[in-house]
Amino acid sequence: MRVSSLTSSVADSRIICCECGHKSETFEPVLNLSLEIDGHDNLIAALQSFTRVEKIDDQENLISCDGCKTKVVVEKQLTIDKAPEVLVIQLKRFTCNGLEIVKKGQYVQYPETLNLAPFIDEFRQQDQELNYRLYAVVNHQGRPGNGHYMCFIHSHGQRWFLKNDHKEHRFNTDFVMDQTAYLLFYVKTTSSMSMSFHSFITMFIERNRQTNNSEEMSVPEQQQSNNNEGSSCSTMQDQ
Ligand SMILES: [Zn+2]
Repeated sequence: MRVSSLTSSVADSRIICCECGHKSETFEPVLNLSLEIDGHDNLIAALQSFTRVEKIDDQENLISCDGCKTKVVVEKQLTIDKAPEVLVIQLKRFTCNGLEIVKKGQYVQYPETLNLAPFIDEFRQQDQELNYRLYAVVNHQGRPGNGHYMCFIHSHGQRWFLKNDHKEHRFNTDFVMDQTAYLLFYVKTTSSMSMSFHSFITMFIERNRQTNNSEEMSVPEQQQSNNNEGSSCSTMQDQ
């Protein structure tokens, strides 16, 4: 099974002319949603910011409109066009400050269940399952240059497991929801996906390492080389 077939979504970038109302749309496949977390303490606020209407009115950088053939002020909005089987959300925790990589360690609250309807156009919501359940949380422990990843995977009921090579540690939901998450994996509530999530997440991270797509997974090379299994930790205690 190809990872991209499960996680691929389509972003709809829409530009509307404020003078004549001409609309242009660009559709772009995306493997995961990469969200800014500055100023946001929860996932919904980050998603709202991701899909907010932005007015581009910088007089030095006005956009040419195909409708009225002049340079105009426009409104731009990014929305999700196709809801993927597995919604992968990356919280942008790593930035480059000159030559130094900086990790943002603030907590961003995330829900166990997520409905994508507010972030998809109403007429595109038909025939799409938009309800998701949280199935895995990946966080990054340590400093940007030498840390490692931990992956919590949902089992059933209120059970979560932290996979650590050949060992498993069980955790309760409250503990998992309190993590400073880096990647969140939401699966459609109607999903019939049979692949184990440990395999899936390992494949996902490996795929990103191979494609070296810095936009989708802005993890420094040194971090990625420490992430052999996509889930490892020997410092956490079972609960
Ligand atoms: Zn126009």
